[in-house]
Amino acid sequence: MITVSEALDRLFTLARPSGTEEIPLLQAAGRVLAQDARSTRDQPPFPASAMDGYAVAEANPGDTLRVIGESAAGRRFDGAVATGQAVRIFTGAPVPPGTSRVVIQEDVTRNGDTVTIGDRPDASDNIRPAGNDFTAGTTLAAPRILSSGDIALLASMNIARVCVARKPVVALISTGDELVMPGETPGPDQIIASNTFGLYALLQQLGADPRLLPIARDNAASLKTVLGLVEDADLVITIGGASVGDHDLVAPVAAELGMEQSFHKVAMRPGKPLMSGRLNDAMMIGLPGNPVSAMVCGHVFVAPVIRAMLGLGAAPQPRKTAPLAKPLGENGPREHYMRAELGPDGLTAFDRQDSSLLSVLGAANALIVRPVKDGPRAAGDCVAYIPL
Ligand code: AMP
Ligand code: MG
Repeated sequence: MITVSEALDRLFTLARPSGTEEIPLLQAAGRVLAQDARSTRDQPPFPASAMDGYAVAEANPGDTLRVIGESAAGRRFDGAVATGQAVRIFTGAPVPPGTSRVVIQEDVTRNGDTVTIGDRPDASDNIRPAGNDFTAGTTLAAPRILSSGDIALLASMNIARVCVARKPVVALISTGDELVMPGETPGPDQIIASNTFGLYALLQQLGADPRLLPIARDNAASLKTVLGLVEDADLVITIGGASVGDHDLVAPVAAELGMEQSFHKVAMRPGKPLMSGRLNDAMMIGLPGNPVSAMVCGHVFVAPVIRAMLGLGAAPQPRKTAPLAKPLGENGPREHYMRAELGPDGLTAFDRQDSSLLSVLGAANALIVRPVKDGPRAAGDCVAYIPL
C-alpha cells in the first residue's frame, strides 16, 4: 500500500500531455490556453475620449468656445483645433490633434455654435492615451484556463483563433452485474449506476471529453469486450471490481490485456482499492466502486491527472484551511477524506462517513483531509480541506 502523495507522483509519471489544437475564439471559454497569445495592435489605437463632451486645446471657467465639428466613435474629426475652439466628442472617439482635454458635457452650457465652460469643470483630461489598455506585443501567458474576461481581451487583441490543449478523451467503464442505467427499471437485486454519472460530470467540469461505455458485467469476457471498445482514449477509468473479491476482475483482466500496473492500493479512506497503470496507448485508473470512494478518488486523483494532461502542471488538488466547528477524534493509519460542511463557524464533519452514502456527499461542500495518525482535534483547530 502506498501513500496518497506517492500514488499521485506515480499517476503524474503515467499521464501524458493531451496535445494541442487550434479553435475559434467563440469555442475557447474554459479551455486551457496552450501557447502565449500576443497582441499585434495597441488598444486603444489612438488617444480616445473617455466621456461625452467637448475636446479643447485649453479652457478656463467662463470661457466661451466655438464648436467647429464633431468626433464620434468610428468617425474622427479631420482638422486642426485652435485655442478658442472646441470639437463635440463622444466616448471612444479619437481626440483631435491640438486638443489636450475633454470637458464633460455636464460642465458646459451649449448655445448654438458655442459652448461656455462652467464655474468648476472636472479637473481630469478624460483622455485614454493610445495603448492605455495594452500595446502591440502584450501577451496573455499560457497555460491558463480561459475565462470570459480572457476571451474579451483576446478578441480585443484581434485574435480570432487560439491554440488550446486538446480535451483528454476519457473512457468511463462501470462494472457490476447489479448495475442498470438511470431511467431503466432495476430488478429486485439491482441498483442504479450512479458514480459513473458523477464522474462524467466531474470530467466535463475539468475540461476533459468523457465517453460513457456500456456497463461491463462481472465476468472476464464482458470486461474484455467493453475494454475492447475503447478507442483513442487518453485515459480509461474503470469503476468497481477493483478490490480482491471473487468478482473483482479488473486487475486480472487488465493484466491479461497487457496493463503494466503501477500500483494497486492506496493508504486512504475512502478509496483504498485504487489501481493504475498503462494499457496499450492509454493511461488506466481503476476506481473503487463504492459511490463516495469513486467520487473522492475523482477529486483527489483524477482531477490532478486531467490538469496534468491539459498542461496545467503536476500538483495535488488545491487545499485550503479552516477552523473546525466541532472536534474530531484521532485518525488511523490511512489518510482520511471526511465529508464535511463548511459554514460560518467553520468545518463540521458529518457523523456518517460510510463510503456508500451519496446523500452525505451531496450535502458536503468540503472534504476535510486528515493526515495519517493525526491526533484528536479540538473545535477551533485549523485543518486542511478540499473544497467541493
Ligand atoms: P465493487 O468495487 O465492484 O465491489 O463495488 C463496491 C460497491 O459499489 C458495491 O456495493 C457496488 O454495487 C457499488 N458500485 C459499483 N459500481 C457502481 C456504480 N457505477 N454506481 C453505483 N454503485 C456502484
Ligand atoms: Mg462490483
